Amino acid sequence: MDHFFYRENRLFCEQVPLDRIAQAVGTPFYCYSEQTLLHHFTVFQQAFASCSHLICYSVKANSNLAVLDALLRQGAGFDIVSGGELARVQRVGCPPERIVFSGVGKTVAEMRAALEYGILLFNVESVGELHRLNELAGRLGRRAPVALRINPDVDPQTHPHISTGLRNNKFGIPYSQALDLYREAARMAHVTVLGLDCHIGSQLTALEPFVDALRRVLVLLGALEREGISLRYLDLGGGLGIPYEDGRLPPHPGLYAGALLAEWANTPFAQRNGTLILEPGRVIAGNAGVLVARVEYVKEGEEKLFVILDAGMNDLIRPALYNAYHAILPVARRFGQEERVADVVGPICESGDFFARDRLLPPFQEGDLLAVRSTGAYGFTMSSNYNTRPRVAEVMVRGDRFMVVRRRETVEQLMENESLFPVEASPGPALF
Ligand SMILES: *Cc1c(COP(=O)(O)O)cnc(C)c1O
Repeated sequence: MDHFFYRENRLFCEQVPLDRIAQAVGTPFYCYSEQTLLHHFTVFQQAFASCSHLICYSVKANSNLAVLDALLRQGAGFDIVSGGELARVQRVGCPPERIVFSGVGKTVAEMRAALEYGILLFNVESVGELHRLNELAGRLGRRAPVALRINPDVDPQTHPHISTGLRNNKFGIPYSQALDLYREAARMAHVTVLGLDCHIGSQLTALEPFVDALRRVLVLLGALEREGISLRYLDLGGGLGIPYEDGRLPPHPGLYAGALLAEWANTPFAQRNGTLILEPGRVIAGNAGVLVARVEYVKEGEEKLFVILDAGMNDLIRPALYNAYHAILPVARRFGQEERVADVVGPICESGDFFARDRLLPPFQEGDLLAVRSTGAYGFTMSSNYNTRPRVAEVMVRGDRFMVVRRRETVEQLMENESLFPVEASPGPALF
């Protein structure tokens, strides 16, 4: 459920018409519905109410401070993947015991910052990382709380670029090496082994891969128990998909939780009151945001009709990167006009710069506003300055009010860190 809807043929976010925001802040901009964001989080959290749990929203999906702040107030923890994301959750005042740190390439500086803050768990992804963390914690006179991220080798049946739980992925520790590494970690002087983590991919639309992965890690938990290594946290990662297209519905969070809890309920781990950690990103933020853009030109090609926007692939890269589908809605709906098949594209010098291809759409005209749906996750956070395009504004709506929660960048800002390399007045003799 979300709070984007038409009223008298104007597209609204909660109680604010999108055309009014466009008038105030210009285009393009991302617009988030706070109520939708919180609704998604609450539904997800309530689905796990029957067990001890911590929902750590995956910051990389949408890391705007206003988004993090809203979720924090609702009781969220955070899954971070960099020192930068740590700084963000610290900025909104997240207590350390609600932070887990994932990622295959944690640097010493990132580890140190997280150790000093005292986060809940490092999700460790390799032997090398485990050793580095142990050594660093020793030097800092601390103990590092650790979960090992195990690669359960299940096929999530999703796009190859967003599957992470297969044997040939760079993520996690191979299942076959897990037991040995736990034994080694348990003997280390400066780490405390507290958990097991797995995350198998993103935009999953079936439950079986999640259940398969859980079964595989429960076998491992059993084996660890028998060796006297008993864990407190089981982190099942994120990955639950969202509806991008009508008719292709991923399971509701309630069903997802039900399937996981059915496996989990009778394990010794659950009976000892172990805590489940979940790291949802997309399912919380994806359908809480739209990208609003203006039509610059409508161009009749020889074979195709092109609707050219003022937003481009630098603002939303998912179609180019994953061939992702995003619904496109007119901000002002008109009736009685025949729809036409068109490509909706950006201004960038790349053929991959598109939002929709061969899509049946209302006949857009120059100056029209449109909304690219389901862009609250992996939209702004994956945007770039390609073509020296300032990143767009982000707006949050709350009821009948809205606020710019990230100003549009300026071209000046983009050049701020650059310098010319002056040519010396009298260069020495040429060397060859
Ligand atoms: C990206 C990521 C997530 C969130 O994935 P979604 O598909 O957005 O739910 C969770 N955990 C880890 C380790 C990730 O890398």
